[in-house]
Amino acid sequence: MLTDPRNQPRSDAEGYHCPNCGGAWHDGSELCVDWMNRFARYAEDASTDHRQTRWGKVMAHEIRNPGSLTFADLREIDEALTEEAWMAVLSRSLGRTKPTQTRPEDREGGKRDG
Ligand SMILES: [Zn+2]
Repeated sequence: MLTDPRNQPRSDAEGYHCPNCGGAWHDGSELCVDWMNRFARYAEDASTDHRQTRWGKVMAHEIRNPGSLTFADLREIDEALTEEAWMAVLSRSLGRTKPTQTRPEDREGGKRDG
């Protein structure tokens, strides 16, 4: 007899609480639809190569860290004038996400003082 996947309890490791949907649960394999819509609007407006690159990196970041970027972050990224400025938004968003998985750089040989 096959196991019905709907009977399986959900694990926190397979999803995240979405900051853009009032903390609603999203499956980890899919990005938030509301977030995607918002993202698409900004990405459509990206007329230059470096703007398109910027939004490509934002998408890659969100795929790797689902639920890390809020709508406010997207606006800030859109308005950022320098690469430094929007990269800072990306790194800041990482500190906000709850770590559900151990990041490899934390486990393998950190820097040691003296
Ligand atoms: Zn959402």
